[in-house]
Amino acid sequence: MNPELKILLLEDLEDDAGLIERALRKGGLKFVSKRVDSRDEYSAAIGLFDPDIILSDHALPQFNSIEALRICKEMDKDIPFILVTGAVSDEFAVNCIKQGVDDYVLKSNLTRLPSAILGALAMHESERKKLQIEVAIRKQNDELVKINKELDAFVYSVSHNLRAPLASVLGLINLARIEDRSLGDIFTKYLSMMEKSVTKLDDTLKEILDYSRNSRADISFTKVDLRNLINESFERFKYLEGMTVIDRRVHVEEFAPFYADPYRLSVILNNLVSNSIKYLDKHKDNSFIEIRAIVSEDMMELLFRDNGVGIHEDRIVRIFDMFYRGTERSEGAGLGLYIVKEVVDRLHGTITVDSRLSEGTSFTVRIPNLSPQAKTPENILIDAG
Ligand code: ADP
Repeated sequence: MNPELKILLLEDLEDDAGLIERALRKGGLKFVSKRVDSRDEYSAAIGLFDPDIILSDHALPQFNSIEALRICKEMDKDIPFILVTGAVSDEFAVNCIKQGVDDYVLKSNLTRLPSAILGALAMHESERKKLQIEVAIRKQNDELVKINKELDAFVYSVSHNLRAPLASVLGLINLARIEDRSLGDIFTKYLSMMEKSVTKLDDTLKEILDYSRNSRADISFTKVDLRNLINESFERFKYLEGMTVIDRRVHVEEFAPFYADPYRLSVILNNLVSNSIKYLDKHKDNSFIEIRAIVSEDMMELLFRDNGVGIHEDRIVRIFDMFYRGTERSEGAGLGLYIVKEVVDRLHGTITVDSRLSEGTSFTVRIPNLSPQAKTPENILIDAG
């Protein structure tokens, strides 16, 4: 703290000012003071004297303490302001504090003034520090938001741009296959291996694009045909190895129309379906995927169950982590369930998993059913945030 405080005294009685200064010296404060008693002198002193604290009597010949406080604030000065006055009513004191006075001290009890000054100074100092920290955090936050946006745009355009050359490589592999047939299929094995690798890379890029789209695109609300969405998901993977041997059991019970974001729902379904196919248990001859969905007025609950290889109990807690692969069997990037979790979070839903090795895995997904009333632009904006 400044060893010599600059105190501005707004006091019309010289004797009272003397008493105040004596009390401060007695209290051990080192200070220089300036006494003023008119509005002009007061305004000028705030600028020129640049006080650390203002001690103000209430009633002055030209104006009063509340006006003085207002002038100080209008000059955009953060200076502690203490009322030093004769007897006042409780109501008056409370009103002063409400207006922004830091403290009030009765002239009949000036011994309290030094500690009131130190208290007010400490309070302003800590407020100032708090404000500085808040400003720094806000700035940092703005920077993070900007970096995040840039990173997201970068990831999006890189993944997007990489898919085009991959598509042409896949096309070329097909052409090569046709040529190869006339040569007696000598490169079939290599072409299939190339196709598999390129498809895997393309799948990863698609996952990254899903992730990016989930974080950037607004939530849309549409009446969803859940059965149709589930069928589309199965249809999408009908060429995956294993799909033909899996029995599909789908039960959808709708007690109310379901309003949700169809794109995000399909991301969830596609990932769960493709995992059940990828991790089916080849030793079983009754492989199945069971989907039970119940739609009520405020919620859609989906139980997704398979009897695949299951997940090791030590690994289950990590399956929603980014880039986590829970088994050597995985040929993916370990992004699928991470994206599912992100999407579910974005929809304000929940997802839980239960799994037993060799028995199978089940996921329970709950997504709020958004009634048409919730589709106001404000709500969309809040949800998209
Ligand atoms: P990826 O399939 O690319 O490895 P995911 O994020 O989709 O990544 O899944 C993470 C891990 O969770 C997988 O590696 C696998 O071990 C496990 N897993 C996910 N779904 C199933 C399932 N239906 N059955 C068995 N294991 C699963």
